[in-house]
Amino acid sequence: MPDTDSQSELTLSSPVKGLPGVGKAKAASLRKMGIENVSDLLRHLPMRYEFLAGESSIAQLQADTIGTARGIVAAKRWVPGGRGKGRLEVTLQDDVDTLRMVWFNAAYLQDKLFPGIHIRVTGKVQHFGGYPQMVNPKFEPLAHDAVPEPLPSYRRPIYPATEKLPSSQIESLIEHCLDQLGDTIPDPLPAELLKHHEMPSLSDALKLVHRPTMPDDPGVGRRRLAFNELLLLQLGIELKRQYNHDKLQSPSLHFSDAKDEHIRQRFGFELTASQQQVVSEIAGDLQRDVPMNRLVQGDVGSGKTVIALYALLMAVADRYQGALMAPTELLAEQHYLSMSKMLEGSSVKIALLTAGQATAKSAARKEIEAQIESGEIDIIIGTQALVSESVKFNNLAVVVVDEQHRFGVLQRAAFRSKMSQQVQAGRIASPHYLVMTATPIPRTLSLTLFGDLDVSTIHGLPPGRKPIITRVVGSEKSDDVYEYIASRVAKGEQVYVVVPAIDEAEEESENQLKSVAAHSRLLQEKYFADFTVASMHGRLKPAERDQIMGRFRDGSVHVLVATTVIEVGVDVPNATMIVIEHAERFGLAQLHQLRGRIGRGTKDVKNLCVLIADPVTDEGQQRVEAIAASTDGFKIAEKDLEIRGMGDFFGTRQHGMPPLRVAKIPEDMDLLQLAKRDAVEMVKADAQLKLASNQTLRKILLKQYGTALGLIDVG
Ligand code: ADP
Ligand code: MG
Repeated sequence: MPDTDSQSELTLSSPVKGLPGVGKAKAASLRKMGIENVSDLLRHLPMRYEFLAGESSIAQLQADTIGTARGIVAAKRWVPGGRGKGRLEVTLQDDVDTLRMVWFNAAYLQDKLFPGIHIRVTGKVQHFGGYPQMVNPKFEPLAHDAVPEPLPSYRRPIYPATEKLPSSQIESLIEHCLDQLGDTIPDPLPAELLKHHEMPSLSDALKLVHRPTMPDDPGVGRRRLAFNELLLLQLGIELKRQYNHDKLQSPSLHFSDAKDEHIRQRFGFELTASQQQVVSEIAGDLQRDVPMNRLVQGDVGSGKTVIALYALLMAVADRYQGALMAPTELLAEQHYLSMSKMLEGSSVKIALLTAGQATAKSAARKEIEAQIESGEIDIIIGTQALVSESVKFNNLAVVVVDEQHRFGVLQRAAFRSKMSQQVQAGRIASPHYLVMTATPIPRTLSLTLFGDLDVSTIHGLPPGRKPIITRVVGSEKSDDVYEYIASRVAKGEQVYVVVPAIDEAEEESENQLKSVAAHSRLLQEKYFADFTVASMHGRLKPAERDQIMGRFRDGSVHVLVATTVIEVGVDVPNATMIVIEHAERFGLAQLHQLRGRIGRGTKDVKNLCVLIADPVTDEGQQRVEAIAASTDGFKIAEKDLEIRGMGDFFGTRQHGMPPLRVAKIPEDMDLLQLAKRDAVEMVKADAQLKLASNQTLRKILLKQYGTALGLIDVG
């Protein structure tokens, strides 16, 4: 006989679908909140608690709490309010005191509440004219002589909820899970550690947050749950770091003053002190046979390109290859152009490889690939196409990834697999790895997701930069703005105009967004009749974009109307003005990037950024204000984090990292530091987490972070 007892035990990894009352629709609502299994559900914490004070006499009811009392209805009165509306006023008496109650627009209650009946009422207590009062309380009739159980006091959890999935339903699901799980929840953290930090066990912590009895309970429970998440994250990062250190091997590049001198000759300017510092840090890394794993953060225009070139040339000078990967084709082309220019007259061979060529499967692309494989090409610049299957490197030593303001730490393994050098003494060949970002990561955060990267920062901008003036105006001022700008274009300056949409919407509507198509037409006719207006967006072919960019760069196009495709990398010194339409719709980092397109020239004119905005949300208003208030990318990033919270700021999903549900950064910074210290200690003591006391931890860690951090092959 087959085993018919299919009632499986509930565990933390059980899916929520299948819990009582959770079918397809409820499961979908839960998934929208990021809740897929029981563990997710139990880490969905109450946002507050409603204190139900339990039953008391009327005299003991406390203002501003939810109270319960019983008594006899003494009087009632209907006060009409016109158009069928009105209120029912009732007084309730116990042996000593009187409670006033008011129900609004509840005529039907007139037949349910009579003087002389006994009732028990529950509601929020207010004091009004010396008497306690409740508005729209709940009530239940009591039989004269019955003595029902008095209600005990209770902290009712109120959960973040949706219309389809109210707090009360989440509450009962969590109740069910806690009941079923009982004390069977395995605790990943070693008992010693918990004792040391005076933290409760995992199952106690869950009870403290979901079923608190004392006011301090939720805080104590939450702290443990937050620590749990942060410790797992830090352990994952620590294991990864250890692995890179022990198992990977990179070419150790040589360094000399002569080589350094030789590379710098290419730049055409002196490095700033800050660039110099970053370059030394990189040169230090590259001399070791452990892969460099470094993040360079520097504001828009801070001069990251030469840093990248420096690292690439360190490889090329030792007869290795270097690769630079950019997030968009436009940006890859920009890098290719500016680096080619700096390398003019040298023997370094540089090539561009993009997806555009990939789809073409052209002979040219095959040719480039062959030259990459043979080692004839020294520096390869491209997009994601660089990690496509057909690309094989001859001897790659340095990879630079220009992330701009996206974060993706997952590419490293992809490059590793493209190394032709072979495993030496049990170690796997890996290039050195440098990530560049223009969204400075607030210091408070670099510990979390980027904990396995070393961080270098370029402070400030190269000398000679002109300040940028930022103005915010409502759309009713558009006329003035464009007339003023036209007057400056007439003097030889150029302007970017950024709009959110590519095409006009099909239907006319009042709050239609400005589009590249319609707005460039309007600008050409109305304000710039004597000049050339061109447009640009992501749907144009790379060759068309190149051609338009080329004409803007050489000055034959005066006004460039574009979507945010121009937000990264575009560098045209004569463009001194930028207008951003519907500015309230763009993110802070994006606005900052867009503004970074100007202020790159040496002309003695005022660089002007005009944000045309009609913010309708608080957040939109805050963003526009923040961007107008500062040009410092670090300050703006901090503000961004404040406005959006960490989840959105990072777009953790993009990483494939499990989101932090309970822990909040920067609020839980102290816990993060604690977790970091513990993780380092634990990995030092037990490098593979093989000890018996670490087994639960190890299992959970591999399950949650294995793929995201590439820990699976840690074994
Ligand atoms: P980022 O990529 O960080 O936004 P870029 O590398 O494009 O910035 O540099 C912006 C501009 O500053 C470029 O025109 C570059 O040539 C110039 N630049 C960079 N470093 C210096 C420096 N030390 N002195 C003068 N100009 C510099
Ligand atoms: Mg750049």
